[in-house]
Amino acid sequence: MTIQTPVKPKATQFGPKFGTAFKCTGEACRLSCCKGWTVSLDKDTYRLYRDTPDIAEHVQKAGKTQNRSNKAYGEIKLGSDGGCPLLTETGLCKVQKSLGEAHLSETCTTFPRSITQTPKQTAVSYTPACPEIARLCMDTADSMQLEHSDYALDPKLKYARLTSPDLSDTSQALFGAVYNFIALSDRALWRDILVVISYLSSLDRQPTATQEDITQQLFAFGEHVRSDAITTDPSIFQVRMIYPTLLQTVELSEAARDFRLVQETANMALGGAHVPFEQKVKNFVLARETYWKLFCQQKPFALKNLFLNDLIRNRLVFSQTPEQIVDRIVDFVLNLAMVRFIQILTFQAKNTIAIDEAAFVAASISRKLAHSQKNRTALKKALQDHLGDVRSVATLLIA
Ligand code: SF4
Repeated sequence: MTIQTPVKPKATQFGPKFGTAFKCTGEACRLSCCKGWTVSLDKDTYRLYRDTPDIAEHVQKAGKTQNRSNKAYGEIKLGSDGGCPLLTETGLCKVQKSLGEAHLSETCTTFPRSITQTPKQTAVSYTPACPEIARLCMDTADSMQLEHSDYALDPKLKYARLTSPDLSDTSQALFGAVYNFIALSDRALWRDILVVISYLSSLDRQPTATQEDITQQLFAFGEHVRSDAITTDPSIFQVRMIYPTLLQTVELSEAARDFRLVQETANMALGGAHVPFEQKVKNFVLARETYWKLFCQQKPFALKNLFLNDLIRNRLVFSQTPEQIVDRIVDFVLNLAMVRFIQILTFQAKNTIAIDEAAFVAASISRKLAHSQKNRTALKKALQDHLGDVRSVATLLIA
């Protein structure tokens, strides 16, 4: 008798190396993906759920009739705590229990991945809004290596895919040069990003050069960007800009519970509401000097990897004008600044440095920012009001 071993069909994916190591941590996850997201349902899935007892009461048609599409026809009615009502106490989803994994919505199957299908390849990127993704991303030096690998997309499951044309050769060269310039550098991340921003700001359209030539141009440009841009300790600037922004924009709803938790931890580490600003700065300087330095000794690549991950996730931005690319890069820097600020204070509050804590903070803030731009907008405004120029000073927030 011949025993046939089933072979999983494989798709060639392009993406960061850490992606193939991802496994959902399930019940052990501190920030389950069943919290705080709108779960869209395509028309067939909506109808199936609507007709299934025990599930039907938790679904509704999506938004306004004119905006409804086959892909986003319905949605799950989230509970008042922002959580998915289909999640049972044992951690098992009611859809999986009643209908089987094959009937999970595309949103649930795909998270924390984003799959982009171009004529040439399947590009898979990952959101740090999942703490396990944030951990894998920050944990090892080579996790952001880009590679083509065999990646099994389970043929029984439905995945959300964005279809897109490939980047033009020019845009791909620009993306590759920026990515490599930052990935291969051993200088300070804030300085390298400032070089990239300055270089792109000097262009009125995309350069028509090879990736190698653009990389050379970036290195040459780096020679002219002043490395002594920081004349004083940037901590004061960082506390002055980031702390009020976080305080002002926390929404007092249960849905923002996880975010509030990390923000409260930060508040505590800075000394609480009644401590004068000068003392808060002193506390932050101390935390940055001790815990952050220790963390950077252990994981010198962690912050850079989060930034590179943002570049990969938003690779298609490189088809836009240099000015638009700079705007997006500034957004990534502001996100990173908020993540890093709270990471430093969390280490201080818990008197420990741990990659799991760093990942939890990265995931909480990323999830918050994915839903609301209020924090980033407030931070931009604060920079604008204070210094009049967001582009050239944003990187000081991660110095
Ligand atoms: S957030 Fe990530 S690790 Fe947590 S339950 Fe979702 S996929 Fe799993």
